[in-house]
Amino acid sequence: MNILLTGGTGYIGSHTAVVLAEAGHRVVLYDNLCNSDVGVVQRLGQIMGSPPALVQGDMRDGALLAQTLRVHAVGAVIHFAGLKAVGESLVQPLAYYDNNVVGTLRLLQAMQETGVRTLVFSSSATVYGEPRYLPIDEAHPTGATNPYGRSKLHIEQMLADLAASDGGWKIACLRYFNPVGAHESGLIGEDPRGVPNNLMPYVAQVAIGRRQRLSVFGDDYPTPDGTGVRDYIHVMDLALGHLAALDYLGALSGWHAFNLGTGQGHSVLEMVRAFEAVSGRPVPYQVVSRRPGDVASCYASADKAHQLLGWQARRSLTEMCLSSWRWQQNCENTPS
Ligand code: NAD
Ligand code: UDP
Repeated sequence: MNILLTGGTGYIGSHTAVVLAEAGHRVVLYDNLCNSDVGVVQRLGQIMGSPPALVQGDMRDGALLAQTLRVHAVGAVIHFAGLKAVGESLVQPLAYYDNNVVGTLRLLQAMQETGVRTLVFSSSATVYGEPRYLPIDEAHPTGATNPYGRSKLHIEQMLADLAASDGGWKIACLRYFNPVGAHESGLIGEDPRGVPNNLMPYVAQVAIGRRQRLSVFGDDYPTPDGTGVRDYIHVMDLALGHLAALDYLGALSGWHAFNLGTGQGHSVLEMVRAFEAVSGRPVPYQVVSRRPGDVASCYASADKAHQLLGWQARRSLTEMCLSSWRWQQNCENTPS
């Protein structure tokens, strides 16, 4: 099948492109490159044998989206494109609603116009808001604590309304926990612009010597070592979850939500130690005050995805750290 990946040159989209191509699909990437580099296409070509098609365009350009769906005879869309920085969303909420919600609306209109009715959407564990119980399953109440999270929630609701209005739609919302790691080749990975917001890219940059030390945001949480606990999932396992969701939608219509996580929680200090062990480099850190909006612990129940999609995360913490270290070393050797 021909599959359109919006945000396909980004971190998760590029890894999913590899998995889909390996499964025999033809991928078309659609991206405005606001948070990714066009060089990803050539590096994907090295991994996949030939570079995928890239349409450089914006999600809010409905006409270009419809044209792309037609020209490439697209059978399904995986919608990764979006802005994702929580802090930035608090400062620029309208930019987030415009890019994420309006961008998705334009995509859905283009899909309706062209008769493409299969969609996998990049949602997030952030739609659960403050965890009321752990592990978080899909029945956990939803609620967002910032504009980024609310944009994801609005989109999920829009998708549920659409599926309810017309039985032809097949929609899966994949609620990612904490994606980390990189493709084993070290050719693609997460390369945040500026200072990383997320833990693991920061840790990797400290290990390589690009940053002096990690700030650990609080060690007084009610967790075993006092630092925050999250469900880190290897990006290649996450990518495989998209393939499983597409297969599932082949047989079923309607709206479906799945957690993609490992079901295992790891603390900040556990992650630091795992990275030190794999890289052989020290990761100096200092404990600073808690980051506003952070919760103590958040990890998934991934049982639904296991039962219905036949999917499970398989890669270990060591593989997550090893692949991100390999990628970090390659980044350092490649002038951007
Ligand atoms: P990313 O920034 O690496 O990739 C997103 C891509 O979308 C980028 O290449 C960017 O250029 C593109 N894009 C953004 N706005 C666009 C627009 N208006 N038009 C066209 N292209 C646009 O991010 P990622 O980590 O790969 O995340 C992919 C999706 O997964 C996002 O929707 C994000 O919210 C979601 N998600 C990510 C995480 C995470 O920790 N990485 C966790 C949960 C959910
Ligand atoms: N964290 C940290 N220092 C950093 C970045 C993150 O201590 O520089 C902690 C953060 O408080 C949380 C965990 O690492 O407990 C994961 O944070 P991240 O931003 O990667 O993911 P999210 O908050 O979205 O789960």
